[in-house]
Amino acid sequence: MATVSELAWLARINAFADHDVAPLAGRWVCGDVPGKDLLGRAAEYGLTRIEVPVAEGGLGLSFAAKARACELLAAADFGFAMSVVNSHNVAAKLARCARPSVKDQLLRPLLAGEASACTALTEAGAGSDFAAIRTSARRVADGWVLNGEKTWIVNARHASVAIVYAQCGEIGSRDGIGAFVVDLNAQGVERFARDADFSQVSAGTGGFRLTDCHVEPERLLLEPGLAFKSILGEINGARIYVAAMCCGMVRAGLGIVRHYGLERHTFGQPLVDHQAWRLDLARCDTELAAAQALVAEAVAGIVAGCDVQLLAAQAKIYAVDSAQRQLAVLFHAMGAEALNPERPLARHLAAAQVAALVDGSTEMLLERVAHLTHGRARRKTQSDRQ
Ligand SMILES: Cc1cc2nc3c(=O)[nH]c(=O)nc-3n(C[C@H](O)[C@H](O)[C@H](O)COP(=O)(O)OP(=O)(O)OC[C@H]3O[C@@H](n4cnc5c(N)ncnc54)[C@H](O)[C@@H]3O)c2cc1C
Repeated sequence: MATVSELAWLARINAFADHDVAPLAGRWVCGDVPGKDLLGRAAEYGLTRIEVPVAEGGLGLSFAAKARACELLAAADFGFAMSVVNSHNVAAKLARCARPSVKDQLLRPLLAGEASACTALTEAGAGSDFAAIRTSARRVADGWVLNGEKTWIVNARHASVAIVYAQCGEIGSRDGIGAFVVDLNAQGVERFARDADFSQVSAGTGGFRLTDCHVEPERLLLEPGLAFKSILGEINGARIYVAAMCCGMVRAGLGIVRHYGLERHTFGQPLVDHQAWRLDLARCDTELAAAQALVAEAVAGIVAGCDVQLLAAQAKIYAVDSAQRQLAVLFHAMGAEALNPERPLARHLAAAQVAALVDGSTEMLLERVAHLTHGRARRKTQSDRQ
């Protein structure tokens, strides 16, 4: 699916994930956080520029290359993969939609990995039900004034810039939601960290409060009416790369456990020679192949410019579900050794739970699948009757 030159680039990303990210990731569950230099290294490999057009200083690579890069990074650490791809997505969106003056100010440091960025929709009272956000944007003579609080946002701990979705009209109105480019170091912004065992420190998860935060008129990125539609369009891609990330984590876990099964002996033989043990791994391998096939089909759909709502939802539902189940199986198959922070299984297991929430929770996606498939069935029944 990826081109020959993309495959060469992906081989370098694989080496970066293996040699630069994976060895550090175990410490990120023991209090360390990724250093700023790691984002800079990721930028040197082009991970901040994947889909940004060449004319804007990017690599102009395909979605197929991006999804595979996400898979490779998540095999090392899901949180770091989310951090990098979220920053990249903001850069790509600014390159596509921002006014030239805003691009001139913000794009270069993001592409160079000198700064990070985030996308902020979620609030304490509005997650799945995005249209219920209460962060308000009020038009004033010299721009906009934003008030509200965003939480559970990847990169919010360190990002210098956020694309903030805010309500410009009545609460609950989809057409009232606009998107703003907000300087997170500006007056009126107070950020906070979200610490939790499962919160993926390496994803820089946090939030921020906006109190009479002034935003210049040129920083309105998407007018009310366009912002909600734009999210619906972009989210299919996010669902697919999150599904790919889940495949990456299971693939990595499977490789480690399989190797462990050759070395660890119980009752006089390697674990792999106990049939009950190895059948669990065989099931995991089989589910991984199915998840990878769904992801590949969805990626191909995006690359071909098709409507991938259904494929994206199905790929994410299955890959996440399977990762939640199979990472638990792999964790168990390794015995106590799975708890060793140098092993990624506990991190990946927690990450699969997070994957089940972000970019459309499993329940929301099942609703989407039901809606789309029932719609098809209804149309078929009607056309059969005519
Ligand atoms: C580590 C992490 C990083 C995140 N990063 C970002 C980010 O960068 N930007 C951002 O904007 N957001 C981010 N989020 C937020 C994420 O998008 C939300 O967690 C998600 O939208 C779900 O919202 P919620 O957590 O408020 O759950 P809720 O919406 O309160 O739902 C709770 C549970 O109920 C289920 N549920 C809700 N409604 C229904 C229904 N109608 N029918 C059946 N079941 C239902 C959900 O599936 C879920 O299981 C992040 C979250 C986490 C944990």
